[in-house]
Amino acid sequence: MTLAAVRQMIIEKKLPIPHAMADTMSMIVSKFSDSGFECYLIGGSVRDLILGRKVYDYDFATNARPEQVQKLFRKVIPTGIKHGTVTLLKSNKSFEVTTYRADGKYIDGRRPESVSFSETLEEDVLRRDFTINGLAYDLLNGKIIDYVNGLRDIEHGIIRTIGDPVERFNEDGLRPYRACRFASKLEFTIDEETFKAIGRTLEIARKVSVERVRDEFKKILETKRPSIAIEYLRTSGLLGIFLPELVNCHEIEQNKFHIFDVYRHSIYSCDAAPQNNLVVRLAALLHDIGKTPTRRTGNDGDYTFYNHEVISAKMTRRIMKRMRFSNEEISKVNNLVLNHMFHYTDDWTDGAVRRFMRKVGVENIEELFILRQADRKGNGSRNGLPAPILRLHRRIEQVISDDNAMTVKDLDINGHVLMEELGLVPGPEIGRILNALLEMVLDDPALNRKDLLLEKAREISGSSD
Ligand code: ATP
Ligand code: MG
Repeated sequence: MTLAAVRQMIIEKKLPIPHAMADTMSMIVSKFSDSGFECYLIGGSVRDLILGRKVYDYDFATNARPEQVQKLFRKVIPTGIKHGTVTLLKSNKSFEVTTYRADGKYIDGRRPESVSFSETLEEDVLRRDFTINGLAYDLLNGKIIDYVNGLRDIEHGIIRTIGDPVERFNEDGLRPYRACRFASKLEFTIDEETFKAIGRTLEIARKVSVERVRDEFKKILETKRPSIAIEYLRTSGLLGIFLPELVNCHEIEQNKFHIFDVYRHSIYSCDAAPQNNLVVRLAALLHDIGKTPTRRTGNDGDYTFYNHEVISAKMTRRIMKRMRFSNEEISKVNNLVLNHMFHYTDDWTDGAVRRFMRKVGVENIEELFILRQADRKGNGSRNGLPAPILRLHRRIEQVISDDNAMTVKDLDINGHVLMEELGLVPGPEIGRILNALLEMVLDDPALNRKDLLLEKAREISGSSD
């Protein structure tokens, strides 16, 4: 949406509520109004409607107490009653309705010590984090209510705390991370005073649990350009709290083929990875993280980074464990990082192609190529993949479509048959023979026939006597 369009909407004060939602929402608000209560659309939904962005949650604020809301509607779930929030179900849609609040004192830099209800919308707005998140919309009269100059900041694309930034960040250490996230999500600038306050309140930000920081970080990785937020995180000091390894890549210059230092290459590769694929985004961000500890100066005076992918993979595992990512996410990202440096030449035998596929895992191959592409884009302007890599891709597709033997399970023989025919007992010997047979079949799929495999198995088991 253009700035002019945003301005026009602000002048008209009519928000484009999607048709499918409008009737239900009017019904809800009328019901409050008919019973003498106020009810406004609030927070992120108003902001996103003004910006013409897709809205995921429509949240309401009201002066009705939770128990009064429960009396007004039939389907009300007490989802966050402690904080005055209930969820309203209407026409197969759900809405969060929160009673006006004035947060009590903050003690641990995270949760208000007590939540007390307040009588006015203004007080409720003043407890919120940023001016752009402090707008309310009166659906019945088509009016935007703006106590904090949120419209001005939306128009100029600025993230600014409501009230004194140092105070607001000292109250809640998650807010600085949120500021950086909104910078990426909306492609906005953080106001200078607000930005400086992040650096002055790092001790509070440090107290936020790893899980909450990780969740913000994940949301950053889901935006179109995570590099915007990551650069704010770095320059404010927040990145050093949870990802110092990436800070250490800053100004690590590379060899003559790279225009960016390792840090910039990493964040731009992350931008270039698909927005909806968290695993590849993480792999892109971390794939070269081991370059800092492995950098040496070669004979020609240029830098080398031998084995950096192995170190990067180790560091990735450690970082993701520390941030409590799931084991599945860790092993997938780790695998991509470890294998990102593959070099292909046309003289690879079919066996070599199959071995490569087995090493990476057939289910991960596509993502490895996507990572490679992001890695290249993160180097500057180059697009797509070089011809040899595309030829490898084609050969892999060929192997998959030929449906050749890929794992021990795909062999035309199994452990039971081996035991019967060769008079073996259960034990590691069986696995050893099956793996040797698999190696053979990977080189020549035509050998995947029971009679040939048995013959070979006899040789192998005989040779180990
Ligand atoms: P998103 O698109 O990420 O959901 P949002 O603005 O809806 O953005 P939420 O986390 O869903 O963000 O919070 C809803 C609203 O609650 C915010 O718009 C803001 O007004 C308020 N809010 C959320 N978190 C905080 C916080 N830590 N401190 C103060 N106000 C907050
Ligand atoms: Mg929201």
